[in-house]
Amino acid sequence: MNPSVMVYTEIRNGSIHPVSYELTGKARELADKLNSEVVVVTLFNKLEEKVEDLFSFGADRVIVSQDECFRLFNQEIHTNVMSALILQEQPQIVLAPATTGGRTVLPAVAGTIHTGLTADCTGLDIEEESDLLLQTRPAIGGNIMATIKTPHHRPQMATVRPKTFKIPEKRSASGVVEPFYLNDDMKQTTIEILDYQPLEAGAENIQDKDIIVSGGKGLKRKEGFDLLKQLADILQGGIGASRPTIEAKWMEYPHQVGLSGKVVSPKLYFAIGISGAVQHIAGMETSEIIVSVNKDPDASIFQVSDYAFCGDLYDIVPKMIEQLKEKLAKPVSDKEGESHV
Ligand SMILES: Cc1cc2nc3c(=O)[nH]c(=O)nc-3n(C[C@H](O)[C@H](O)[C@H](O)COP(=O)(O)OP(=O)(O)OC[C@H]3O[C@@H](n4cnc5c(N)ncnc54)[C@H](O)[C@@H]3O)c2cc1C
Repeated sequence: MNPSVMVYTEIRNGSIHPVSYELTGKARELADKLNSEVVVVTLFNKLEEKVEDLFSFGADRVIVSQDECFRLFNQEIHTNVMSALILQEQPQIVLAPATTGGRTVLPAVAGTIHTGLTADCTGLDIEEESDLLLQTRPAIGGNIMATIKTPHHRPQMATVRPKTFKIPEKRSASGVVEPFYLNDDMKQTTIEILDYQPLEAGAENIQDKDIIVSGGKGLKRKEGFDLLKQLADILQGGIGASRPTIEAKWMEYPHQVGLSGKVVSPKLYFAIGISGAVQHIAGMETSEIIVSVNKDPDASIFQVSDYAFCGDLYDIVPKMIEQLKEKLAKPVSDKEGESHV
């Protein structure tokens, strides 16, 4: 068996974050091509779920390190433990989520063990002739896609944003759970955590939404988002936004979709008054169905859309809202066989 593909999991508030399943599935694909195994690392104080679930997404082994020191996220301790585990396990590849946690831990690990790291990958594969990891990510302001290799150092390390890969179908599988005990050196830290503030209650994470209604500069004014909110509310969706609308303070940053915002992959994505710049498309192109509204027939967004409405958004969106309200108001028996959108 060749050296393993290791996954650093994200555990938030006692739960395994879905991005860990996405990465475990991708690690399985890579490991199958390399004739190697998938080793998933879980570091936590308390866990509501069973680590065994990770086997059904592709793990062969799950390393469990349960310790009080993981109660609050401390980047230094995670770095110490991951570095020690990498030296012990000698994996050929290490994957981590490009969340705040992964983005702070993995660069520090790369520095500690002297290897490279490609951040924010949007594609991962194995080069057939060399077995090297192909790490693809947008570069030069998102204008090109660069594929990066790490030929001389090990492990090859990459972070990947949530929702870049789909969670694989669950399979019935079993594997080995191995404990990993920390020594005092690993718990040494210069960081003193003063406070921990969770997101405000009710604050939505658009990455968790099945439907997202996003607005762009074509809205012309901040109040345009009130119209989009009506559409989103009917569909129980979230609100997304292009970067210029954030810069104009029409919407807050957590709603930004794209290269310097969030990557989303909902079932249904509305791009309204958005031109379709590569940096925006990088954040939403894996959506299942894309519906766009733009008055410019040559807008780039139409090239990635499943349904394209060419015209003024202030004519089209109110009609969409009206029709949806009518359809949703009908008794269930009248709606059989009809789709909602
Ligand atoms: C390093 C870098 C990172 C970036 N990161 C991001 C990112 O994360 N997310 C992001 O979105 N952008 C990002 N950008 C910016 C990106 O390049 C574009 O400038 C931006 O996406 C354009 O936003 P927009 O589509 O809202 O605006 P515009 O490009 O101005 O497009 C507005 C669209 O609205 C249409 N329109 C106008 N009026 C109407 C109307 N009445 N009805 C219907 N349609 C109308 C127009 O035809 C036009 O297509 C980044 C840029 C750089 C350099």
